[in-house]
Amino acid sequence: MQRKSCHTETLARSEVCSVEYCRGCAVFHVNLGAVTLHFRPSTFRVLCTTLNTALARFRHVRPVLSSYASNQDEIVDSTP
Ligand SMILES: [Zn+2]
Repeated sequence: MQRKSCHTETLARSEVCSVEYCRGCAVFHVNLGAVTLHFRPSTFRVLCTTLNTALARFRHVRPVLSSYASNQDEIVDSTP
């Protein structure tokens, strides 16, 4: 949905996603693989807060899953 008039600037980029911002539309463009999601700044802020909350809770619950996770790591590590 990127218009010709869009002049986005890349704010962050990783191997998983990239985030661009268009001043003209005042919209964040979040690129995840082949999918691009558009967020107003206020909505994007809530999204980031929600993701951080989920990550914090994931860290909290991970010890419960540690035996399962370590088994998974062993399987992955044993592959040449
Ligand atoms: Zn735009």
